[in-house]
Amino acid sequence: MDNKTVNITQEQIDLQYSFMAQMREKTRSFFEEKGRMPKAHVLTFGCQQNEADSEYIAGMAAEMGYTLTEDATEADLIVVNTCAVREHAELRALSITGQFKHLKKVNPELKIGICGCMVTQEHRKDDIKNKYPYVDFLFGTNMLWRFPEILLESFKKKKRLFYFDHSADNIWEGLPVERKSEFKAWISVMYGCNNFCSYCVVPYVRGRERSRDPKEILNQIKELAEKGYKEFTLLGQNVNSYGKDLCIDYDFSDLLTDICKIDGDFWVRFMTSHPKDASKKLIDTISREDKIVKHLHLPFQAGNDRVLKLMNRKYDSKGYFELVSYAKEKIPSVGLTSDVIVGFPTETDEEFEDTLKMLKKVEFDSVYSFIYSPRKDTPAAAMEGQIPDEVKKARFSKLLEVQNSITKDLNTEYVGKTIKVLIEGKSKSDCEKYTGRNDKNRLVHIDGDDSLVGKFCRVKIDRADTFAMYGTVID
Ligand code: SAH
Ligand code: SF4
Repeated sequence: MDNKTVNITQEQIDLQYSFMAQMREKTRSFFEEKGRMPKAHVLTFGCQQNEADSEYIAGMAAEMGYTLTEDATEADLIVVNTCAVREHAELRALSITGQFKHLKKVNPELKIGICGCMVTQEHRKDDIKNKYPYVDFLFGTNMLWRFPEILLESFKKKKRLFYFDHSADNIWEGLPVERKSEFKAWISVMYGCNNFCSYCVVPYVRGRERSRDPKEILNQIKELAEKGYKEFTLLGQNVNSYGKDLCIDYDFSDLLTDICKIDGDFWVRFMTSHPKDASKKLIDTISREDKIVKHLHLPFQAGNDRVLKLMNRKYDSKGYFELVSYAKEKIPSVGLTSDVIVGFPTETDEEFEDTLKMLKKVEFDSVYSFIYSPRKDTPAAAMEGQIPDEVKKARFSKLLEVQNSITKDLNTEYVGKTIKVLIEGKSKSDCEKYTGRNDKNRLVHIDGDDSLVGKFCRVKIDRADTFAMYGTVID
C-alpha cells in the first residue's frame, strides 16, 4: 500500500489533448451525419472530490465536441462517477446504471462508462464486468486523466475496456474543466489519504496522500479570481497533511496565507480537517485572514474514546474538545460542523450517549450523520459485534433529534441580525425564493431576482427554522 506518487508529464497530457482532437473529428462527422452535436451526460455520486473530478470529465467531453446535458435519455455518452463510502451510494449507482440499459436499445451507439471509487474496488469491477454487459468502459480513480484515450479506444476497438492502475498514485495538471458554477469553484489541493480509519474505504480507492504544487494551485485561483469567482473550496481528505510529501517547508496554513494575498473579493473554504492534524497555526491563520470563512468542518465521528480507538482516529474526546475550545477562543464567531458515525461495531448505548454529549457540549452548527456501513476489506467490517440495523436506525434518529434542536437554536440567534450571504440561485424547495449561504455555510432564503446570483449581499434575517434562515436583502 506504499505507492509512489507519479507526476503525469506535460507530454502525457499533450497526448491526451491529441486524443481529444481525434475525438473532435469523430463528433464532427457525427454532426455532419445527424445535424446535431452528440450529447454527454455526467452523473456524480458522493463527495465534493467526485464533483470536482466530474467537472474535469465534463471538461474533457466538451473539448471532444460533446454538448453537455442534464438529461440522460438524450445522451450519446453517459459517464457515471461513483462513490464507495457507504453501501447505499453503491446500490444507487448500480441501480441507476441498470436503468441505462434500455437507453442503449433506443440509441445503440450510446457509450456508457463508469468511473470513480466504487469501480476502483476489484469486486465491484468484476460485478460490472459480469452483470452489466452493456457498460462499455470502466476506469479507476487514478485513470481519470486518460479518459480521452479510453473513450477513443472504445470507439476504435469496439470491445469493452477496463482501465485500472493500482501500482502508482498519479497527480496531473492542465486538463480542461467545465465548472458547474460561474462563481464557486472546487480546488483539489491534494488527493488520497494515509489515515486508514478502520471503517473507511477511501485510502484503498484513492491511494496515498499527494499534494499539488502550490504554484499550480495559486495560479489556478488567481485566474478564477480574475474572472470574478467569489468562492474557492479547497479539497483534500485531510487538508492538514497538505505539503508533507512535497519536501519543501510549506504547509496548508502557508497555502491559505498565500491564497489570501491574491487580489479579489472572495471567500476561501476548505475541507476536510482531520482533528489529529488540525494545528493551532491553522486556527490562527483562519482568525487572521479576512478571506477565510469562519467555519471549521472538523469530523469527530464518535464521542467515546474506546470507539475512537477502534476507529483508528488517533485523537481522544478530550483532545478534540481542547482543539474546539481553542478555535472558539481565537475565532469567537466560528461555525463548527462535523461528521458523525452511529452504530460502529461494538458501540454500546452508553458509548453512543458520549456522542450526544459531544454534540451538546460543542454546539455544532450542523452535523453530517451516517449510519455505519460495513465496507469490504476494511478492518471494521471484520469486527465482531456488528450492531443490528434497528439499533443503528434508532441511534441515528436520536442523534438527528438532538442536533436539529441545537441547529434551530443557533439559527434563531441570527434573527434580527444582518449577515453577508453569497447568493447562489433559485431555491430548490421554494421556487419563489432565491437561496444563498453565509460564511458558515448556512442556508439563507431571500426574495430576489437573477441579478443577485453570484453576488455577495447583506441580508437581514427575519426568521429561522432548523434547515434555513429567511431574510431580506439590505444591499
Ligand atoms: N476524509 C474525510 C471524510 C471522508 S468520508 C474525513 O476524514 O473527515 C466522509 C464521511 O463519511 C466520514 O467523515 C465518515 O463520517 C463517513 N464514513 C466513512 N466511511 C463510512 C462507513 N463505512 N460507514 C458510515 N459512514 C462512513
Ligand atoms: Fe477515510 Fe479517515 Fe481518510 Fe477520512 S481520514 S478519508 S475517514 S480514512
